[in-house]
Amino acid sequence: MEAAGSPSPAASSFRGHTDDVQIPGKRTVLVVEDEESITTPLTAALAREGFDAAVAPTAAAALELARSLEPDLVLLDLMLPDGSGLDVCRELRRTSKVPIIVVTARGDEADRVVGLELGADDYVVKPFSARELVARIRAVLRRTEALAEPPPDKVIRVGPLAVDSARRLASLEGNALALSRKEFEVLELLAREAGRVVTRERLLQEVWDTEWFGSTKTLDVHVSALRRKLRDDPAEPRFIHTVRGVGFRLSEGDAP
Ligand code: CA
Repeated sequence: MEAAGSPSPAASSFRGHTDDVQIPGKRTVLVVEDEESITTPLTAALAREGFDAAVAPTAAAALELARSLEPDLVLLDLMLPDGSGLDVCRELRRTSKVPIIVVTARGDEADRVVGLELGADDYVVKPFSARELVARIRAVLRRTEALAEPPPDKVIRVGPLAVDSARRLASLEGNALALSRKEFEVLELLAREAGRVVTRERLLQEVWDTEWFGSTKTLDVHVSALRRKLRDDPAEPRFIHTVRGVGFRLSEGDAP
């Protein structure tokens, strides 16, 4: 978060560097904006730049989609038909560390400052070019992911599974797995502790905010999804073993 009073000093230095280092792996951007004249060209530009884009035209839809989609970044307009984007920002921050870029109208200095105080990572001022915005999105993702990730160490291998923390890629027998951000983080933690039990509490703490209401069920949903993607039979799992009442243990995968 930038200090109030020195809004985004780095912004100008990213201009002209849109083709800078690509962030590997496909990122999902949730565009919270009600004006189609903005969302239509913007989602097209994001798709062209290799992002998955989803649109939430209201504050309610934004909170709903932020929860169900687990976007990698939220682009948040402050003027929404059913409320202020600032409230959405505050609500998102209660439960999630997802990077947020707020979109403000020209001259709304107060909104910008409040947005940053509420935990937004950056802001853009309307009107903006898609090119400028994509550069800003890349910059925020680079910054937040560099902070969130452990140092780029070697790939963790567990039997036929490979988990690459630096590139946020996981594969099974050499085939890339299409994992959501949280699924990846669950697998990564289990892989780092392969052979040992990782408690539910630790998973919830490290992958989710512990305060996130309903997260216990969420963990099970994510483990189920992971098992499906690993083609693990929940009744007789090869990889993710349930340790009843305690947590989960990742094993090297017994013969299928
Ligand atoms: Ca709007």
